[in-house]
Amino acid sequence: MSDEVTQERARDEEPPDASAVPQEGESGPHAGVGHGEPDKSAKKTEAAPAPRRAEISNYEIVEHWFGVAAERLGLPDDVAAVLRSSYREVQVQVPAKLGDGKLHVFSGYRVQHNGARGPYKGGIRFHPEVDLDEVRALAELMTWKTAVVGLPYGGAKGGVNVDPSKLDLDELQAVARSFMDKIEKVLGPTRDIPAPDVGTNAQVMAWLMDEYGKLHGHTPACVTGKPIALEGSCGREAATGRGVVQLFQEAAPQIELDPAEARFVVQGFGNVGSWAARLMQGLGATMVGVSDASGAIAGDEGIDAEKLAEHVRDGRTVADFDGTAEQIDPDDLVALECDVFIPAALGGMIHRDNADRMRCRLMVEGANSPTTPAADSILNDKGVLIVPDVLANAGGVVVSYFEWVQNLQHLRWDEHQVNERLGEIMRRAFGEVADRAQQNSTPMRPAAYELGIERVVEAASTRGYI
Ligand code: NAD
Repeated sequence: MSDEVTQERARDEEPPDASAVPQEGESGPHAGVGHGEPDKSAKKTEAAPAPRRAEISNYEIVEHWFGVAAERLGLPDDVAAVLRSSYREVQVQVPAKLGDGKLHVFSGYRVQHNGARGPYKGGIRFHPEVDLDEVRALAELMTWKTAVVGLPYGGAKGGVNVDPSKLDLDELQAVARSFMDKIEKVLGPTRDIPAPDVGTNAQVMAWLMDEYGKLHGHTPACVTGKPIALEGSCGREAATGRGVVQLFQEAAPQIELDPAEARFVVQGFGNVGSWAARLMQGLGATMVGVSDASGAIAGDEGIDAEKLAEHVRDGRTVADFDGTAEQIDPDDLVALECDVFIPAALGGMIHRDNADRMRCRLMVEGANSPTTPAADSILNDKGVLIVPDVLANAGGVVVSYFEWVQNLQHLRWDEHQVNERLGEIMRRAFGEVADRAQQNSTPMRPAAYELGIERVVEAASTRGYI
């Protein structure tokens, strides 16, 4: 943990509802059951940048919401203990020879959280801050997410604590292949199917598939998010952003917002953020602020998302975009006046120290765990409608599922078919979560967790697992 984060935690004031929000060392109402303390041991082998992030970890965020839902559902403690802990956690050494001719050793993780509903499914993250605690949280979130959208999958996640921006393509390939060599035994099309996440993309998936194929024979269904030329699915690259925008369209009437009139801000302009921005713009909406790891820009007249995506594709950053927008302090991005805020960077970026500054009416969470429970509570009090990560960013795994189905059947669907089917699934899930929220008189996040957990409990008990 960096000094900056330690200091940030030390000066935290009380959260708005201290009884409902996990404090340091707690993990929600069932703290101490299952994994107990989150793993915060220092396992980084390469220097990590100082983050401007939350008072609590991703793991504590997911555990908090699991605890709230488990309590409401009346889950017995022994069942909750099984559901909150991972089925399998693999930590491996990832040695790779880099351009300096030396072997560098990274830490790699694959966590399989729960497989009651089907094979494990979840992305692989390459980022210097990856550790077991974060991967465990993201794996658990995948279990509830695949259940919320009704896919026949369990939840998993993987990662390597490497900074891909510091590697050339050969080095990146060496890390990807080395990681696959260490974890292939727990993967496979009927066991666990990785996909892209932060710091990985279709090219990395191609190397992972190729490495798996050397050991098991050509197996395209072993990973999703592959390039189209290697049996990837049409529409996969844009799928998470498209799902975010499809749910924005569902949610907009609830705040009496015409999508074409919407002014929006995007935090993180990578795969999810840049696609969400371009598709929002396609609806006529105007992007008035955007950031990436390099900085943030704002422009009242609008920032052209298509041109910015082209600029970033050319290897440049948001901060040096040559439009009419001006550079702002990245910490001020959240305070821009807008209708819709789309977090699409890392976890814990909306926290108790900045939530009160937000001036949006709707937040659609493209990122995983972008909002801490304290911030969530502040935003609810301010009347902000939140479409939570566990529902809002499921578009990627939905189209990953389509890719897996196409690979198993050796078929190809066209992009129109993929996008239509994605929309059907996302809209159905939105309706189910919104109905549950209305019945319970709660926001959508606890309702979504409840739905997901209920479905996993049903599958696990029908199997005789719990
Ligand atoms: P990506 O690596 O393509 O993009 C991440 C973006 O965040 C980059 O623009 C990066 O510069 C930016 N960023 C990093 N630190 C930042 C900071 N401090 N401030 C502002 N921006 C910052 O990753 P992605 O695949 O777009 O994933 C983004 C988020 O969406 C993650 O939380 C991920 O888990 C989640 N997600 C991704 C998918 C998917 O299909 N790719 C699916 C579901 C959820």
